[in-house]
Amino acid sequence: MHILVSGGLGYIGSHTCLVLLEAGHTISIVDNLINSKIETLEKLRIISTSDFQFYQCDILDYEHLETIVHEGNVDGIIHFAGLKSVGESVSNPLEYYRVNLNTTINLTRLAVKYKIPRFVFSSSATVYGSAKSPLVESQKLLPTTNPYGETKAMCEKILNDASQANPNLGVTLLRYFNPIGAHESGLIGENPNGTPNNLMPYITQVAKGKLEKLKIFGNDYPTNDGTGVRDFIHVMDLAKGHVAAIEKQKSGVQVYNLGTGKGTSVLEIIKTFERVNNLEIPYEFIERRNGDIAEVYANVLKVGKELGWKTERNIEDMCRDAWRFENQNSQYEEEKFSELWK
Ligand code: NAD
Ligand code: UDP
Repeated sequence: MHILVSGGLGYIGSHTCLVLLEAGHTISIVDNLINSKIETLEKLRIISTSDFQFYQCDILDYEHLETIVHEGNVDGIIHFAGLKSVGESVSNPLEYYRVNLNTTINLTRLAVKYKIPRFVFSSSATVYGSAKSPLVESQKLLPTTNPYGETKAMCEKILNDASQANPNLGVTLLRYFNPIGAHESGLIGENPNGTPNNLMPYITQVAKGKLEKLKIFGNDYPTNDGTGVRDFIHVMDLAKGHVAAIEKQKSGVQVYNLGTGKGTSVLEIIKTFERVNNLEIPYEFIERRNGDIAEVYANVLKVGKELGWKTERNIEDMCRDAWRFENQNSQYEEEKFSELWK
């Protein structure tokens, strides 16, 4: 199949592109590089032996996007592009609604116009709001605590309505839990701009000495050790979930959780990271982060049964691969920096 991957140079998109190529699909990546680097393209070309197209295009630019879709004979769309910082969405909500809703609307309009039957959307466990885990796809969605989460719930609604009005448009909504880790090569991974908000990139930067110590948000949650519990999933397993979803797309709307089904606490992650990588992570406990809840983990029975997908990598793999990427990427950036000063 020919798959258009919006946001395909980003963290999850780049890993998914590799798995799509490995599965024999043709891909066209569309990305405006607002939160990714052009080097990722070079790295994808190093890792994969298959060729693919790249278009530097803003998905908000409908006319430009249409020329790409029009030329392409596209069989399916996987839509990753969007803004994803929860904190930034609180301080700049209009930008989050503008980008996340309009990118989704533009791609959906083109899917309908060009009769593209498969559309996979990056949703998030955040749409469950503060509901009690394990979270099941069929349960009622609760309000989220921030504009980012609201954009995900709204995009789900837009895609539901569009599919109902256009029965040829098959949609899969994938609700991700907490993707961490990196490709085994250590070439691509999560490389946020500025100080990371998420746990794993913060840990790897502390390990590397870029940040002094990890601040753990709260040790008084009603969990095993008092720290927050999340369903961490290896980004390569997550990537494989997308390939299963697009290959098995049915008509109508399907919704799946992509997680492991198992919760791991912040302290457990730290201890595992220290053990498998043989180093120490200095940390301190501080107050809870606003909007955080104690436990978030998935029920993954539906996705296993219907897509035949399940995770293959454990927390140790996630910690090892995240650390390998941090090391290789830091070295890569240092070499590039010294190249510039030659
Ligand atoms: P990312 O920021 O690394 O990737 C998004 C990519 O989209 C980037 O390469 C960016 O340059 C591109 N992009 C953004 N706006 C664009 C636009 N207008 N036109 C073209 N390209 C644009 O994010 P990610 O972590 O890979 O997440 C991918 C998707 O998954 C996002 O929609 C995100 O909200 C969702 N998601 C992520 C997580 C997570 O923890 N990473 C969890 C749940 C859901
Ligand atoms: N967390 C933390 N310190 C950090 C970042 C995160 O203690 O610097 C905790 C956070 O409170 C949550 C877990 O780690 O319990 C996962 O947080 P992350 O931001 O990675 O994901 P999300 O909150 O979106 O599930």
